[in-house]
Amino acid sequence: MKSENIYKQFDICDAVFKLGREAETEIKKYMEPIEEVSEINELKVIRAMQESGISSECMLETTGYGYNDIGRDKLEEVYARIFGTEDSLVRSQVVCGTHALTLALFGNLFPGDEIFSPVGLPYDTIQSVIGIGKNPARGSLKEYGIGFSYADLLPHEDFDYEAISKGITKKTRLISIQRSRGYARRRSFSVDEIGRLISFIRSLKKDAIILVDNCYGEYTETIEPTEVGADMAVGSLIKNPGGGIAKVGGYIVGSSECVGRAASRLTAPGLEKEVGPSLGNNLSLYQGTFTAPKVTAEAMKGAVFASWIYQYLGFDTSPGYTEKRHDIIEAITLKSKEKLMSFCKGIQSAGAVDSFVTPVPSPMPGYDSEIIMAGGSFISGSSIELSSDGPFREPYTVFFQGGLNYTHAKLGILMSVQQLLNDGLIKL
Ligand SMILES: *Cc1c(COP(=O)(O)O)cnc(C)c1O
Repeated sequence: MKSENIYKQFDICDAVFKLGREAETEIKKYMEPIEEVSEINELKVIRAMQESGISSECMLETTGYGYNDIGRDKLEEVYARIFGTEDSLVRSQVVCGTHALTLALFGNLFPGDEIFSPVGLPYDTIQSVIGIGKNPARGSLKEYGIGFSYADLLPHEDFDYEAISKGITKKTRLISIQRSRGYARRRSFSVDEIGRLISFIRSLKKDAIILVDNCYGEYTETIEPTEVGADMAVGSLIKNPGGGIAKVGGYIVGSSECVGRAASRLTAPGLEKEVGPSLGNNLSLYQGTFTAPKVTAEAMKGAVFASWIYQYLGFDTSPGYTEKRHDIIEAITLKSKEKLMSFCKGIQSAGAVDSFVTPVPSPMPGYDSEIIMAGGSFISGSSIELSSDGPFREPYTVFFQGGLNYTHAKLGILMSVQQLLNDGLIKL
């Protein structure tokens, strides 16, 4: 069967199919560097597993306290090797990225301390953790007397070194740098840029604890923020590093001191990393770690495809398809409610799971505005799988990400275009 025929089974018309073909010719040369990064990272992960002496015994489960869970302990050793850190905490008891960040912050801050962000306001759910924004949450850092301030980026999205110098004070104990864009329309930062920012911050305050919110950034480059001076990097296992296979989890990699303090918040002071049963999760955490670099690359290739197509259709896309990527997200500014709904409907209909569902905007815990989310994922809420979401607010930007393989990401984008076309919202 020819490929246009199989796309017809998805009700993709000739014009949309051809647009996809054209895109693929145009983006070919941007795929190669992504594959090179992937190869290096895949080998890095295999080497880390070999050096840690991973055995079939590591895949077994423990229950109860989880004392002497060698699978869990060795996985944490693997993460420390991959990220070049002294230690790590990689647990299925860490529910999500926000939880991991919460542990890292609460574990390493004391009443009277301040957090400073040199890259603008953090991700929506982290604002709730800090205790700012429209809905300061119960139990936030603010309630414990921990302050927060930030410097915005300059208009061209460079770091505002002057504002950063002024913003870092005697009280500043922790610097929080978000690598990815989150739901902001700013760009993501390269590890190199983060390294330069860290050097600058160290010149002002040598002993600051530097934390990088690494969500969506893992394996998009061949080095990680912990290799350029960050004390901690933190993320979610239902994004890049779980490879689409981890069923739940979060990680913190960093110095023994920082990781240990975070662990004492996850479990209890004195218990730290010694308890926490892996239950039946070790196998999927190892498999996910193993596949993560490749899956991340597939998602990045899908994002390049999305960027070309939507730029061709006249929308503002970020990053552009020729630009270097430091996370897996493609932001597409759709500028209307109808287009945002239609785009998400198209992505949803491409799912291997829940393809018959129509996404609608709804309130989400930790977010200010309503959110529309599309994603027929195997793992609930997984955003390394084909997904798109966006806050239901001006300028109606959709954040597209994932696809466990490039073909799925491509199908999703073609179906979103078809949906917009069917709804009379674009012309081809
Ligand atoms: C996803 C994300 C988080 C955490 O989100 P969870 O949904 O709790 O995993 C934090 N920061 C950024 C930049 C993110 O993209």
